[in-house]
Amino acid sequence: MSLLDKAAANARILTRRELATLLEWPDAHELFAAAYEVKCREIGKRVSLRGLVEFGNICEKDCFYCGIRKSNTAVRRYRMDKDEIVREAEWAFKAGYGSVVLQSGELSSESNTVFVEDVLRRIHAFGGDDFGITISLGEQAEETYRRWREAGAHRYLLRIETSNPTLYARLHPADHSWTDRLECLRTLRRCGYQTGSGVMSGLPGQTTEDLAADIEFFAAEDLDMIGMGPYIPHKDTPLGKNTALSPAERAKRLELGLRMIAATRLHLHDVNIAAATALQALDHEGREKGILAGANVIMPNVTDIRFRSDYQLYEGKPCLGENPVLCKGCIERRITSIGETAVLNGRGDSPRWEKRTSAAKHASIG
Ligand code: SAH
Repeated sequence: MSLLDKAAANARILTRRELATLLEWPDAHELFAAAYEVKCREIGKRVSLRGLVEFGNICEKDCFYCGIRKSNTAVRRYRMDKDEIVREAEWAFKAGYGSVVLQSGELSSESNTVFVEDVLRRIHAFGGDDFGITISLGEQAEETYRRWREAGAHRYLLRIETSNPTLYARLHPADHSWTDRLECLRTLRRCGYQTGSGVMSGLPGQTTEDLAADIEFFAAEDLDMIGMGPYIPHKDTPLGKNTALSPAERAKRLELGLRMIAATRLHLHDVNIAAATALQALDHEGREKGILAGANVIMPNVTDIRFRSDYQLYEGKPCLGENPVLCKGCIERRITSIGETAVLNGRGDSPRWEKRTSAAKHASIG
């Protein structure tokens, strides 16, 4: 039996070495096709949509790779007001996106916690329990995570960035802690969130072994959702200055991102995996390629174009001038063009999470 068949037949049995072999599989298309088959079997030919609202770029963190890091003075800082955020979330709701993702730079003040709480309550008031609310607001105190959960958020995305603490330390200032970030992920789970994490691929100094270990990490932490993307340099950052990618490097970086999606699907089977916008930054059809390599979630941007260009984590962010209406038509066409269907008006919860919660319910009834 080939390794691809073995992986497709049984979830979560591969060793680190086997994961590395998948990541370096000689025929990339064969790898993608095997992962896509598992995606279709576990999830169907369906893509879940989340409207992405990038509501602010003010950030207390100083990650060496990120365009909105605190020390980047070339960025015009903004934070939308509550009405604007709620209006954009409502647009996603009416468009049938089924859920919204609120993302911003990281802020830890009490006033920010209250601000987000208010926004969540207002979105939950019109969307109810059938409209998913995901937040991606960085490392916070347990109390904050709990308050946001009670206000209506039920999924959280916090990328570990890399499962290798030594590599993490090289990509962040000394006061950013890999262990604290991991602790946050575990706290999120305890607070009852569907928990998502992920990594960047193609980071300087990152090896295939590191990426294989990242996939092992996803399994060990039993994550519900995975959001990964290629690292793309940003010229106004310490890591990205003087490192613009050549066309050949972009193609390689895209392929590596797709290989990570495929190997993750082949190992984990039943999690939600996003085809990140960074894939599209490298290739117009990057997100469709992500679906065909095993992803099942796309996050169309519903941020008003007035704000989009100020939320550039990396260079070459796509669709800066496209309003949400254009994005909607475009994404639906793209999904149909590959023979998939966009799930409308469904929360698109992670099958992994659904299984876990229904098992817990049965255990408590029994
Ligand atoms: N502040 C929040 C969310 C915003 S950043 C948080 O800390 O979770 C969202 C993600 O963008 C990061 O987790 C990182 O993986 C990704 N990102 C940042 N800079 C990037 C770059 N140069 N290339 C690709 N992805 C990047």
